[in-house]
Amino acid sequence: MTPVIPPTTSHVFRDNSVKALANPQLQRALSNIRRDFVDSRGRALADLPEEEYAALKAEAKALKDHTLAHLDFYLERFAAKVAETGGEVHWCATAAEARETIIALCKRYNAKTIAKGKSMVGEEIDLNAYLEAAGLRPIETDLGEYIIQMKGDRPSHITAPAIHLTKEDVGDLFAEKHKRPRKSEIPALVGEAREMLRPRYHEADIGLTGANFLIAETGSSAIITNEGNGDLSQILPRAHIVLASIDKIVPTLEDALTISRILARTSSGQEFTVYTTFSTGVRRAGDVDGPAAFHVVLLDNGRSKLLGTKQEPILRCIRCAACLNHCPVYKSVGGHAYGWVYTGPMGAVITPALLGVERSGPLPNASTFCGRCEAICPMSIPLPSLMRHWRETEYERKGAPAAYRHGLGLWAFVAKRPRLYALATGLGARVLGCFGRGRGRLSALPLAGGWTGTRDFPAPEGATFRAQWRAAHGRG
Ligand code: SF4
Repeated sequence: MTPVIPPTTSHVFRDNSVKALANPQLQRALSNIRRDFVDSRGRALADLPEEEYAALKAEAKALKDHTLAHLDFYLERFAAKVAETGGEVHWCATAAEARETIIALCKRYNAKTIAKGKSMVGEEIDLNAYLEAAGLRPIETDLGEYIIQMKGDRPSHITAPAIHLTKEDVGDLFAEKHKRPRKSEIPALVGEAREMLRPRYHEADIGLTGANFLIAETGSSAIITNEGNGDLSQILPRAHIVLASIDKIVPTLEDALTISRILARTSSGQEFTVYTTFSTGVRRAGDVDGPAAFHVVLLDNGRSKLLGTKQEPILRCIRCAACLNHCPVYKSVGGHAYGWVYTGPMGAVITPALLGVERSGPLPNASTFCGRCEAICPMSIPLPSLMRHWRETEYERKGAPAAYRHGLGLWAFVAKRPRLYALATGLGARVLGCFGRGRGRLSALPLAGGWTGTRDFPAPEGATFRAQWRAAHGRG
């Protein structure tokens, strides 16, 4: 089966970004992020007293840190509970193992059609391509994923996969593929998708969903959605497969609810999502619905290697997407520029962890380090520090371009010698001050074309900050 290496263009982020910035349709679509996510998050948090939100954040962080410190214990507890409730856990170290396990399960149940709920881990392992290569028919039932699948596209956002499209794009797509009169309003488009999808749940042999949480004390999986498609996918077909990564585990039902309280607010700006669904095992005698078979495919794919390292905090991520929605880089170039599944600041940290910094070096460099992502993250993940760590790793492995490495080396040489540093910066400030005299800014600078190509550089006053400070305050 091909491909073996997940398709990625993270290594050419810069080229991808140039194209994204020059795409007016994409820029129009991205302009909705403020209205749809940033403003609604602000309103949802305004309803929660500041101290209560701070306490919730601290509790969520502590419970995730505790779980990660005892991950083996909670995973084994979860697997034992799943077995007690008639299900089975499949441990998969790699993406290939997870795909093979799912395809083997499809064969076991003689399945042809799979109704899929939204799963970023499914994207991570490129599941649909492999299911189709095995003669199976995956049907995405989340509206955004349904649009993406129909278009032969990839998600560009972890909670709103089709955010790079406008309603006009979707109207054109539906008219072409559904062969129905073109609709232009969102409720009508949603209604049409619902009408097309409803019979698919009944045709499906297997329902496959992701999980927001795996609960160790009960062996349950939980999904948090607004469309109800995940519920239909998991209760109508005769077998339910949950595909989730090991970091989704939480000890108790109460812990899942604690995190849910901040997840919905920071993600979609809701107090709670419309559906919060817990699934436990197979259908029992007397149940009105539910699957006859229940499987959990648990994927590691490099995550356990992060435990105990500087990168461990990224395993606290609950995929709320707040860091994407508030990132000036993401909001300018969109998700496809990042070249793989995970985008924005969290993608710039987790992609090097999963794919290797050699294949994704530009991502941790695609940040202004404004710190907004860390400030906004409900799980208090120090995203800029983690990106800086990947930058250092790339530098140590000589992955960064030679000019960049030599430039940094030269700067380090000078910066470690205070007299030389004062001399060099004093000279530089005087020269730049001379050139910028009159206008107060410079429109071209040698070696800084990347900056001056799109904006002017403010000309220094003719003296360095240190010199100005000394003049104002004396040596002390
Ligand atoms: S890193 Fe934080 S803000 Fe970003 S998706 Fe994860 S939990 Fe949300």
